[in-house]
Amino acid sequence: MVTCTPQDLQEVLEFKIVRSESSDFRKPEALKRLCEEEARAGERPTMSFTDQLTRCECCPRTCRVNRLEGETGFCGISSTIRISHAGLHFGEEPPISGERGSGTIFFAGCNLRCVFCQNYQISQEFRRGRTQTLTTAGLGAEILRLQDAGAHNINFVSPSHVVFQMADAILEAKRKGLVVPVVYNSNGYDSVDSLQQIRGLVDIYLPDIKYLDNELGKQFSAVDDYANIVPGVIVEMLDQVGHLEMDDEGIAVQGLLVRHLVLPDYLDNSRRCLRFLASLSPDIHVSIMSQYSPQHKACDYPRINRTLTESEYDDITAYALDLGLENALTQELESQDHYLPDFDREDPFNVCRHQK
Ligand code: SF4
Repeated sequence: MVTCTPQDLQEVLEFKIVRSESSDFRKPEALKRLCEEEARAGERPTMSFTDQLTRCECCPRTCRVNRLEGETGFCGISSTIRISHAGLHFGEEPPISGERGSGTIFFAGCNLRCVFCQNYQISQEFRRGRTQTLTTAGLGAEILRLQDAGAHNINFVSPSHVVFQMADAILEAKRKGLVVPVVYNSNGYDSVDSLQQIRGLVDIYLPDIKYLDNELGKQFSAVDDYANIVPGVIVEMLDQVGHLEMDDEGIAVQGLLVRHLVLPDYLDNSRRCLRFLASLSPDIHVSIMSQYSPQHKACDYPRINRTLTESEYDDITAYALDLGLENALTQELESQDHYLPDFDREDPFNVCRHQK
């Protein structure tokens, strides 16, 4: 077993848990109660999470633009809801996709600019692609359509910059019969304050931990402080939902599943991320992904302009086991080809499977 030295632990835990100044917006439980009372009285809810986008601090970029007036910040999205795709998806981890699929809703835009993003058509070039603009009620209806189609869960992909629009739509759908778990599938660059506001609305957190090295964040994702932010985000998510719990059929019903994409030639970063997770709890569920392939602008960065080798991936999965991370999901290396979506197509995905 790998033993973390005091220096190692200090290194991985030294990242501050960053919280912005507390918001005076109503607390989520109060908002939920208000909406429920109004719904019972047959009234339309008079306030929403989205109302606070007049000075956006929804994610750690804190652009402070008035999105309700149509202004946009780094993410490029105003207060409207823009989605790029919604449908049953079978390529998530087995506890998320199951046999019937995960009801995925892909939001347009993103608060990162990863040079290797496999979803760059919708995260960074969404203005050129086809997107759909929905009202809160429209997104609520889309959620219920996916539930009716048999989805094990409703899986919001890249919600960090539209967390409040998402929250309003979840409330709308819950009022009209949403019962399957809600999955928050993010890049890990979230606002802890925003997450605290939506506490109780998300059942399963599925965040990335991309880097614990701010230089990598700057170089590959146009973000200065990713390594300062993501530890606090994961601590908050774990506090809200606990470790991943599955039903008798192995389908996730609640909890945290952290994803880490292993980058070629940056194995120290992967070891650092895994040490951090193990320091939180050896019971934490982590999906160690081998599917990296040099998409988008990765060809401009020689060290990551290739796929992962088998020995690199084996090195990292063995390291996870040595750390005592027994709840680690791994992938076949061939998955590098299977996971590439094309959002110009009606059905952007191939069917693929993770393996334990
Ligand atoms: S959600 Fe968008 S506008 Fe708001 S702080 Fe983040 S990047 Fe800026």
